[in-house]
Amino acid sequence: MLRSVILAAARSSQVERLVETAPYTRDVVRRFVAGAGTDDALRATRGLVGDGLTVTLDYLGEDTGKPEQATATRDGYLTLLRALREAGLTPAAEVSVKLSALGQKFDEQLAYDHARAICVAADEAGTTVTLDMEDHTTTDSTLDVLSKLRKDHPGTGAVLQAYLRRTEADCRDLATAGSRVRLCKGAYREPESVAYQSARDVDRSYVRCMNVLMSGAGYPMLATHDPRLIAIGEDRARWFDRGPGSFEFQMLYGIRPEEQARLVAAGYTVRTYVPYGDQWYGYLMRRLAERPANLAFFGRALLSR
Ligand code: FAD
Repeated sequence: MLRSVILAAARSSQVERLVETAPYTRDVVRRFVAGAGTDDALRATRGLVGDGLTVTLDYLGEDTGKPEQATATRDGYLTLLRALREAGLTPAAEVSVKLSALGQKFDEQLAYDHARAICVAADEAGTTVTLDMEDHTTTDSTLDVLSKLRKDHPGTGAVLQAYLRRTEADCRDLATAGSRVRLCKGAYREPESVAYQSARDVDRSYVRCMNVLMSGAGYPMLATHDPRLIAIGEDRARWFDRGPGSFEFQMLYGIRPEEQARLVAAGYTVRTYVPYGDQWYGYLMRRLAERPANLAFFGRALLSR
């Protein structure tokens, strides 16, 4: 219920203005977002790589209706990839891209062209791109773009969301050689017709999808902070004889960093998803919706206005 309210607020421009101007907002944002500029992204990446982690960077922005904004997002990624290469941070760091930030909602071809330019820059930098997955109305379009991109850029990764009823079948389709698939629970508000609603059903779906990916021929990326699912992931790695370099765990910047360090120390490949940029609102609201305890920060930010 609370999650639905926060995710609904994520779409309200009034709430957005209120949150952005609240005095303590900066503290809340800093917990989950590396900073506003490319330099901040590089600094955070350097620190994480120094600690033995790998990284995927998200230049924040989503759901634009403006071609010039889509172009600016593409250019932001091109700048970032150049900077990562010059700093010697590839291939440890790759990028995560939201097609809606590249114009998917109003011109799928434009989003594809921009994504392709980012893939070319990633190839030049010696690294990869993963396409984030957004709400269910975009799933088919995103998977179509993925399959076109993979023709020339086979290392391009996809995200599948365990809360969607279709995802186990999508995992079977994508569990093929050379395919990189990030499995997450899913962060959007979705109707019962397409998505499991209870945490228990989502977790069960996650385990079924994980079994498909870990027993398949692709490269699974298990994106979760859930201790039970991480333990099951470790178990499946033993069962399916997957060593380091044949799958990875992924977690978000600022969330369970001690668990990220524990997994690194245990010899696993762990990738931290690092968002940066000034369009942090949608991202922040999804993080708040995931965990009621985060609302303590949020409430302080609003009340001290
Ligand atoms: P949960 O049951 O939500 O959390 C388990 C435990 O993790 C909690 O008890 C808590 O201890 C900790 N935790 C989880 N979230 C938080 C938080 N926000 N703050 C503090 N602690 C927390 N979703 C998409 O829909 N599309 C994507 O493309 C996408 N990409 C992702 C990439 C990565 C690398 C990761 C890690 C997640 C991504 N997500 C994406 C988000 C994902 O769908 C979940 O919403 C999010 O990971 C929370 O689910 P969980 O598996 O951690 O389990």
